[in-house]
Amino acid sequence: MQTKLADFVKDSPEGLEAEEIIRACVHCGFCLATCPTYQLLGDELDSPRGRIYLMKQVLEGEPVTQKTQLHLDRCLTCRACETVCPSGVRYGRLVDIGRGIVEKKVGRSITAGARRYALRQALPNPGVFASLLKLGRGIRPLLRGSLKGSIPPPAQRITETKSTEAWPSARHTRKMLVLDGCVQPALAPNTNAAAARVLDKIGISLIRAENAGCCGAVSYHLNAHQEGLDYMRRNVDAWWPYVGKVPETTEGRKAMEGAEGVEAIVMTASGCGVTVKEYGHLLRHDAAYAEKAARISELTKDISEVLEAEAAILGPLLDRSPFDANKTKLAFHSPCTLQHGMRIRGVAEKILIAAGFELTVVPDAHLCCGSAGTYSILQPELSQQLLENKVAALESGRPARIATANIGCLMHVRSGTSLPVDHWIEILDEKLR
Ligand code: SF4
Ligand code: SF4
Repeated sequence: MQTKLADFVKDSPEGLEAEEIIRACVHCGFCLATCPTYQLLGDELDSPRGRIYLMKQVLEGEPVTQKTQLHLDRCLTCRACETVCPSGVRYGRLVDIGRGIVEKKVGRSITAGARRYALRQALPNPGVFASLLKLGRGIRPLLRGSLKGSIPPPAQRITETKSTEAWPSARHTRKMLVLDGCVQPALAPNTNAAAARVLDKIGISLIRAENAGCCGAVSYHLNAHQEGLDYMRRNVDAWWPYVGKVPETTEGRKAMEGAEGVEAIVMTASGCGVTVKEYGHLLRHDAAYAEKAARISELTKDISEVLEAEAAILGPLLDRSPFDANKTKLAFHSPCTLQHGMRIRGVAEKILIAAGFELTVVPDAHLCCGSAGTYSILQPELSQQLLENKVAALESGRPARIATANIGCLMHVRSGTSLPVDHWIEILDEKLR
């Protein structure tokens, strides 16, 4: 699509990047059928092609209204459209740029702005989030509808009850870092511990960097781009002593003690993984961070990629794990950030099959579950419809439990089913014990 950038944006890096992305779109419409919001609403303006057209108008300086903002807000950023696009349109990047510009032009009501601000303060801060979660669970029985649904139930049937399991000591010379993230430590602390136990059996110690935290996705996708980039810089600073050459300062050397040359930075939440893999691109204009951020992104691996590369060691371990004549049936929900964002498809599934599980067929597996970061809170009706469709698809093969790879999807799907829902690495960890 030919685009003539308006003066306000024509010399900015974001404007030029957006123009390049829009130019790649050939209006073919292949993306429409795969878009969850177009499927639900049937309006071209709630499809990828329609939203690209809206963003083109914004960049060309045409009037921007709250209607424009509404159609962009309704997008899940699931990036299913990128998977099917024959022209390689980087829609996810475009919608981040477009939303940022629209936010500056039309703003938000005080209530909507306050809600977004509260999410940006609560979610990336594990201490604040854990306190709010405790409070929310206390008053949950008094709430109704979507507000009640947005608070995960207390821990009787969920994984956090298993969190007392030990994290193995860092005994191996092979080491990898892991990102704790922001909400995962409070909601599912067993996930990273399970990853550490599985990697320990392979001969890799999983370690944590003290000052690393939220990957920056929450703020960035809520259009607070600078705030999101600051979280990213903080993680680069926290990880750099473990991945760079030996630091010159005493503090740097101390931070690196016993961890020289980590082989990878492991992500157990695909929502964080897709963002950290983009640090290099998002910080490319920051002279102080560009090179380091590119190296961090290069080292970042989803836990499934790490295990796939260690198949020669993992395979015999799985072969020795107890044989189950009545194979447990699992339905695997592949998060959008895994299958569309990072384009990792079939890897965790292959490992689970090798571990002796039977995977059921899940119809429309490319569709989003409706979690999508803060989407389930900000667009509850659409999110709920997508959740109902997803749960019906996951349950259709009559599985005994559901496995997934991202904390947001895990909590969201759990809220819609009576089946157990866990991170697949926890299921593998159980199998290997
Ligand atoms: S599939 Fe790609 S090129 Fe075709 S309309 Fe959609 S975004 Fe544009
Ligand atoms: S990211 Fe998902 S919801 Fe947004 S336009 Fe693409 S397919 Fe539709």
